[in-house]
Amino acid sequence: MAASVILVTGGTGLVGKGIQKVIAEDDLAKNEKWVFLSSKDGDLVDRKSTEAVFEKYKPTHVIHLAARVGGLFHNMAKKVEFYRENTLMNDNIMECCRIYGVKKLVSCLSTCIFPDKTTYPIDETMLHNGPPHNSNLGYSMAKRMVDTMNHCYHEQYGVQFTSLIPTNVYGPHDNFNIDDGHVIPGLIHKCYLAKQQNKDMVLWGSGTPMRQFIFSEDLARLTVWVLREYKEIEPIILSVGEEDEVSIADVAKMICEAMDFKGNLIHDTTKADGQFKKTASNTKLRSYKPDYKFKPIAEGIKEAVDWFVANYDERS
Ligand code: GDP
Repeated sequence: MAASVILVTGGTGLVGKGIQKVIAEDDLAKNEKWVFLSSKDGDLVDRKSTEAVFEKYKPTHVIHLAARVGGLFHNMAKKVEFYRENTLMNDNIMECCRIYGVKKLVSCLSTCIFPDKTTYPIDETMLHNGPPHNSNLGYSMAKRMVDTMNHCYHEQYGVQFTSLIPTNVYGPHDNFNIDDGHVIPGLIHKCYLAKQQNKDMVLWGSGTPMRQFIFSEDLARLTVWVLREYKEIEPIILSVGEEDEVSIADVAKMICEAMDFKGNLIHDTTKADGQFKKTASNTKLRSYKPDYKFKPIAEGIKEAVDWFVANYDERS
């Protein structure tokens, strides 16, 4: 019997697929049992269904990636569902981890949950310093409570529950839905259609907002490192450096280049910009992993574009 059973919720999503790839090349994983859950394996918003998953797999470690997620426009439209589904899911996972004696739980947060009015760069100590941006209020407050409860569970039960905070993630296997998805997959899909149909490509908003993007496989590798090596309850930001922050307009140009789209790129400024920036510090990560090399964004975008083009029929 494998000594460790590592359960990954949201195991077939963008980051879960990245972990599957990283684990396939990892010698340590040969003596572990990795279980990648999809929504078909159970509804984690439901307590009984969550218990059944823990009863079935008896995990010793959990990476909790499952969440109600979406881009700016989806967050603005569904604040109640983003709050309730994430809160219920996180509560079920934490309680089951406690009851089933899970040795370590790593939950995934996001830099969009930091205070809106803040100084930059944002670091891990600032998480609860003020209200988040109103556009994702429901999602942010549900996710902030994960950090609060990690500390409560640790103090009361001595358990090892922690969290990681990635910046915007992108890569193969993303949600490429134009209305609900994040900016990179949305623009890749739009660019593909514009090229096919000989039309203009439309970028939403002014293009001036700044973001730090992390390639899904980088996040996957660092998540496995957090599970194995990181001992703090406090969250850790997983991000490229401040110097690697790029504007949405630059991202759109990289996508056009990767897609070899020669048409016009136009802006629809009636659409929201969201937060202007949420520049995060990776100083804490660098103190643990000074030499970690992130995939340069132009290369990562090329991989995501190639993956989308190769899988388009299947996903449409
Ligand atoms: P955020 O980082 O949480 O705000 O989420 P997104 O990944 O949805 O990024 C939103 C930023 O990209 C905003 O400034 C949008 O105005 C801009 N944007 C430009 N075009 C698109 C698009 O096609 N889809 C999305 N989701 N955002 C876009």
